[in-house]
Amino acid sequence: MSERGVFIGRHVVPRDREFYEIRNPADTRQVIAKFPRLRRDDAREAINIAKDSFIKWSKTLPVERARILYKVADIIESRADEMAKTLTLEEGKTVPDSMFEVVRTINLLRFYAGLITRGQGKVIQSQDKNTIIMTTREPLGVISVITPWNFPLSLPAWKIIPAIATGNTVVWKPASITPTIAYELVKAFYDAGLPEGVLNLVTGSASEVGDELVTNKDIDAITFTGSLQTGKEINEKVGRLNRFIRVQLELGGKNAMVLSRNGDVNLAVELTVRSAFGLTGQACTATSRFLIPEDMHDEVLGKLVERTKKIVVGNGLRNGVDMGPLASKEQYDKILSYIEIGKSEGAKLIYGGQPIRGSEEFDHGYFVTPTIFDGVTPDMRIAKEEIFGPVLAVMTYRTLDEAIDIVNSTEYGLIAGIVTRDISEAAKFIEDAKVGVVKVNKPTIGLEPWVPYGGVKGSGNDMYKEMGEEAIEFFTRIKATYIGY
Ligand code: ADP
Repeated sequence: MSERGVFIGRHVVPRDREFYEIRNPADTRQVIAKFPRLRRDDAREAINIAKDSFIKWSKTLPVERARILYKVADIIESRADEMAKTLTLEEGKTVPDSMFEVVRTINLLRFYAGLITRGQGKVIQSQDKNTIIMTTREPLGVISVITPWNFPLSLPAWKIIPAIATGNTVVWKPASITPTIAYELVKAFYDAGLPEGVLNLVTGSASEVGDELVTNKDIDAITFTGSLQTGKEINEKVGRLNRFIRVQLELGGKNAMVLSRNGDVNLAVELTVRSAFGLTGQACTATSRFLIPEDMHDEVLGKLVERTKKIVVGNGLRNGVDMGPLASKEQYDKILSYIEIGKSEGAKLIYGGQPIRGSEEFDHGYFVTPTIFDGVTPDMRIAKEEIFGPVLAVMTYRTLDEAIDIVNSTEYGLIAGIVTRDISEAAKFIEDAKVGVVKVNKPTIGLEPWVPYGGVKGSGNDMYKEMGEEAIEFFTRIKATYIGY
């Protein structure tokens, strides 16, 4: 397998660096690619180049930037099958789920290309005669983009595209285990004619490359998605440097789906199973707690287990598979350890809870069964901590107020779902759930690119929203101008 390059200004293959292997999590015998472990100096160089490139790129007309974005969309569309396959080989999710990321990326490109040509300022009426007041939006400069592996294409895309569309330049560090699809995305930008240095891709460790992207004085803003722990670390590092830069942190979730007594049981089961076990539970938007009325417990649980049994686990490349492997050994060990924690806390393991072994398809990958714990109480670790795998905690409640208290009882506040036919219940839930996104009769997973996204509490620092028109706000600053005539 050939050694791949990075983008520091332009495409380079740094032969004097150590290369590390990227392996398929469904079959770890298969090496997908090799990428360089860059050093701090390489990241520094990429930041310097991004800084120089900003001078020209920020002056490019929005219509010209949009022209390039439309072209990137066309190129990705023409490579969609191949990119979806690469994503599956590298991260493990099913091909339809990978294709979903590819399509979302294309949609984001066209959405921001359209949005940016519209202009973003205002004209404000003055208290003085013969005066015009207007606001304009200006790009910030060099943006550090630091991203996780679970949505290795569309999540970086929803940061990078609005950043570049508004005239910023970017230095991007993807997660160490998913650089291949990152490389494909950046390559599409350059194939579309993006000027050198506007989008830089650096692969390497969090401690060297990641740290440089956080602490370098030429960085003008940071947008990060990852764990709560890392979010806190980054926030602390920037604080210590005493620099007033924007730091957007999108962190974890411990999302609950509530079935109300007035809700459709079959719908609730379907949405929960899809949101808990789809993407192998490796989504910030996954459902990890299912709240059911105490007196409906047995009926709902029976249906939940029946539906879960139908999930087909396997290699994401195979047709008909619903749930791929976990993305890495680290994830695999973590999920299995949380299953042990659940058992030792006294929760009842009623489905799954094991690694899958014993056939050629499973023996070389990080496969586990979908797992359901019943009798989970809010004080248990499996009810509070983000597991980030196919592990669902079933909890019971008596009144809707109690259910909402349980929904709000964790450190996180990303998404909450309710299944109900009662509009008043839905309205109360929308009002009282302390989250950034509410879903009524819809799965917790699945976000549309034109809708603002972001959590509260431990799910993020709420530094503007991502996606939607709102993303433009993070990547630009407002200048107010008074003109007398
Ligand atoms: P995940 O488990 O999803 O990888 P992390 O929060 O560990 O979540 O990592 C998300 C991204 O942040 C990855 O690209 C990782 O390399 C990077 N990262 C981790 N720690 C740091 C750090 N201290 N400074 C900068 N980047 C970091």
